[in-house]
Amino acid sequence: MIIALYPGSFDPITNGHIDIATRASKLFDRTIIGIFATPEKRVTFTLPERVEMAKKATAHLKGVEVMPYSNITVEFAKEVKAQVLIRGLRAIGDFEWEFEMAMMNQMLSPGLETVCFMASQEYQFLSASLIKEVASLGGDVSSLVPKHVASALKKKGLSKR
Ligand code: ADP
Repeated sequence: MIIALYPGSFDPITNGHIDIATRASKLFDRTIIGIFATPEKRVTFTLPERVEMAKKATAHLKGVEVMPYSNITVEFAKEVKAQVLIRGLRAIGDFEWEFEMAMMNQMLSPGLETVCFMASQEYQFLSASLIKEVASLGGDVSSLVPKHVASALKKKGLSKR
C-alpha cells in the first residue's frame, strides 16, 4: 500500500491544489493532504478553517483525506506511514525551492521520495496568495476555487462582491 502525503499551507485550498490531489488519488492508495499549522508566511484562515475547506473540497475523492499537523513534515510523514511526498510544480518560480526542499527532506528522511506533479495548464498561474489579493480587490475568483472557498473569502472580507 502506497501512502502519499501532500503537505502545504492551503490558505485556502484552490482548484490547482484540488487538481494535484485528484491526480495523486489515481496513483496512490491513500493521499493525505497535510495542512501545516504554522507556516512562515502569514495565514489568512485559521487551521480549522483551512482543514474544513480542504475536507469539503476533496470529500468526493476516493482515498483522499485531510489532516492538520504541526511538527516537521518528514516526522508527520513517518507518523502517517507515508512513503511519498507530493508537491505541485508550476512553470515559473516553484522549481528551485521545491528542489531545495526535496534535497533537505531526502537528507532528513532517506527513503521518503518526493514526487512532483506538473501543474495543469489552466492552473499554472494560480496561487492562494494571488487569489486572496484579487478577492480583496473585488475581483471574481469563483472559477479558481470551490464555491464554499469563494464564500469564505467573502466572509473574511477579502471580496467586496
Ligand atoms: P506551501 O505553503 O508549501 O507553499 P501551498 O499550500 O501554497 O504550500 O501549496 C502546496 C503545494 O501545492 C506546493 O507544492 C505548491 O507548489 C503546489 N501548488 C500550489 N498551487 C498550485 C497550482 N496552481 N497548481 C499546481 N500545484 C500548486
